[in-house]
Amino acid sequence: MPVGTRGAVRLFPYDLVAEIGFEIVLANTYHMMLRPGASIVDALGGLHSFTGWDGAILTDSGGFQVLSLGASFDEDGVSFRSVYDGAKLRLTPEDAVEVQELLGSDIAMVLDVCTMLPADRGELKRNLDLTLAWAKRSKAKKKRSDQSLFGIVQGGTDAELRKRSLEETCELSFDGYAIGGLAVGEERSLTLDTVASCTEILPKETPRYLMGVGDPYSVVHAIELGVDMFDCVAPSRIARHGVAWTSVGKVAVKQARYIQSSEPLDPSCLCETCKRYPLALLNHLYKVDVETLGVLLTRHNLTFMQTLIATCRSSIRVGTLSEVKGFVETYYS
Ligand SMILES: [Zn+2]
Repeated sequence: MPVGTRGAVRLFPYDLVAEIGFEIVLANTYHMMLRPGASIVDALGGLHSFTGWDGAILTDSGGFQVLSLGASFDEDGVSFRSVYDGAKLRLTPEDAVEVQELLGSDIAMVLDVCTMLPADRGELKRNLDLTLAWAKRSKAKKKRSDQSLFGIVQGGTDAELRKRSLEETCELSFDGYAIGGLAVGEERSLTLDTVASCTEILPKETPRYLMGVGDPYSVVHAIELGVDMFDCVAPSRIARHGVAWTSVGKVAVKQARYIQSSEPLDPSCLCETCKRYPLALLNHLYKVDVETLGVLLTRHNLTFMQTLIATCRSSIRVGTLSEVKGFVETYYS
């Protein structure tokens, strides 16, 4: 899922996202509820007509955003300040469901309490218990029958806590399950070990979504472990800094060796950026027009991810996924 934080992918219109072949995007509840506001989006017919995206939309619950903005959690909900005007705001699990129903996404997420790592076990346990209690309240609040609701598994990298979170979240029977609380400060090998322990237990017939992890290495490895869905803001974020993911590794177009290069950014890519423009032009734009460069590299990076995922799908069918793992080895960092 490309991330359209405020209702659009930065620098890149949804008609072009659709052209690349994506079928689902993510929108951030936190931002949409503050600007323009959930009732305004609702009055305009929901996120689909408001944003012009015809495909599916998943909204996060807003929990992760408020956490990264220094929110304070209590038993009933979370208090935080608006990034826009500093206003004091409050979100309960029930509010998060209500807001997402107004936004009209296809998949809503329960409000959870993520723990930044490393954390002590007491904190992990407290946040996990709160997440479980809130998951029950979210399910009870859900009204829309045309919107799926996903539960979120927490517990850090603590095997015992993860297992409890998994079992008790699955008991509540959600439409899909997200593995949350990873890629928040732990070693990558620990991230993947924890993913493995989750996918062993999660039901096979419902989607499994690994939240906030989207680099090529982790995506391919997590797919092998049985994950179905990913979101990541990186393809467009790194593009705005002149960086591309390519079939031969990461490329920073500002490097002096590209000043006179007539080569494409990625010779094995079929996107218009790679078909039309030499590296020399991209290098030049880095110095004189970084916004246009951002558009060109976002198109390439999203195409790269879409192609990588398509390759994973076809290699699963013929049993050659391990070859794709070799291909993304260069992205281990
Ligand atoms: Zn390309």
